[in-house]
Amino acid sequence: MDENVKELQKQLTWEFPHIAKEAPDQTKEAAEYCEGYKAFLNKSKTEREFVAEAVRILSENGYQEYEIGRKYETGDKVYYVNRKKALIMTTFGCKPLEEGIRLNIAHIDSPRLDLKPNPLYEKTDLAFLKTHYYGGIRKYQWATIPLAMHGVVITKDGEAVNICIGEDEGDPVFCVTDLLPHLAADQNERKLKDGIKGEELNVLIGSIPYAGEEIKEPVKLLVLKLLNEKYGMTEKDFTRAEIEMVPAVKATDVGLDRSLVGAYGQDDKVCAYTAMTAEMATEKPEYTTVTVLADKEEIGSVGNTGLDSDFSLHYIEYLADAAGADVKTVLRNSVCLSSDVNAAYDPTFASVYEERNSCYVNKGCVLTKYTGARGKSGSNDASAETMAKVIDIMDREGVYWQTGELGAVDVGGGGTVACFVAKMDVDVVDLGVPILAMHAPFELASKLDIYNTYKAFKAFYK
Ligand code: MN
Ligand code: MN
Repeated sequence: MDENVKELQKQLTWEFPHIAKEAPDQTKEAAEYCEGYKAFLNKSKTEREFVAEAVRILSENGYQEYEIGRKYETGDKVYYVNRKKALIMTTFGCKPLEEGIRLNIAHIDSPRLDLKPNPLYEKTDLAFLKTHYYGGIRKYQWATIPLAMHGVVITKDGEAVNICIGEDEGDPVFCVTDLLPHLAADQNERKLKDGIKGEELNVLIGSIPYAGEEIKEPVKLLVLKLLNEKYGMTEKDFTRAEIEMVPAVKATDVGLDRSLVGAYGQDDKVCAYTAMTAEMATEKPEYTTVTVLADKEEIGSVGNTGLDSDFSLHYIEYLADAAGADVKTVLRNSVCLSSDVNAAYDPTFASVYEERNSCYVNKGCVLTKYTGARGKSGSNDASAETMAKVIDIMDREGVYWQTGELGAVDVGGGGTVACFVAKMDVDVVDLGVPILAMHAPFELASKLDIYNTYKAFKAFYK
């Protein structure tokens, strides 16, 4: 072949490289980074646990609790907690606030089974908990796997008691039952989405009756007695509680080459953790950083701990007021990464993807110009200018990144918090980690992609 043609092809065409092929050294760095990530995930399965663990780590790393009205200096680091379920971190920058801030927003809630307010019942000498699923789950995936119980109960004295069963060595776990194949002929005819129905997501919690005289529902009573001994709670206290059933699995390496992390809740704790650690590594940034870890994304960002609430806007208003800056100018000049995961191409289910515009495992963090469904409905479609700005930041720092769409056109779709950020008059684009088996009890992410997402956030904050 003509050498000039090869050269021309090199100059004019573009393909996203495979990181392990182009930068094999990164494999070790990424694996080291992910040791901290896995340990963090194991302590932070719910948004409340994430916030508590993050505050502990931030306090050890020079962060002070934010004081409304106080004027801060370049390099100062603060955190702000919203109702124990959402967290904002800031490192004050060199430039005046009116030149804009660097916003990075991820979410720390994940799909799961929430207990109903009146959950405990007994049938044929078995005690169960009724659940209502939270977020977009494929219900059949949540039966016959070990589940742990996490949450909080506010007792009648107003005391908040944290609940956690199924995580420590030797702890019991819980389980949603399913039929044996021998008797599943009728169930097998159901559509997959109804394989296990919502009201069949009942969690087995006990089977031994309370010993002694004949009483009604003795198995339920024994369960209540054990809960009372451990947490001081009664059945009525379920009405003052938020209790979640989550997969009782630890974050672990996947693959003989240990290239992937398998864990529950990587959507979107993988972006939250990389954002938090990048924020911590930021010393004296050019622009003031605002890293928001929000709740409620999986149910539409509603509620006062979600991004559709004004709590993030109010925080930026506090910053602007204290600095004597006009908040509208601050927002208009700001850039935001809406940091959330995207669907990695899975060759087993190739038909739902469009190959040229999917993101791939081990090709780096994924920049998603738009999400949405049908004709980009419900999407923040990032401008060419915003794409250019973010691509330039990543290219300058040698970050491996790729583009991605959420599936082929008209196959499905989805959304992130980007539209709520855009509402504040901020330039925003989605960026995050490609995930296999998203929203499943055990999700997969590549260590190289996780590491490059961390590097992208560090570059963004620089
Ligand atoms: Mn997400
Ligand atoms: Mn999600």
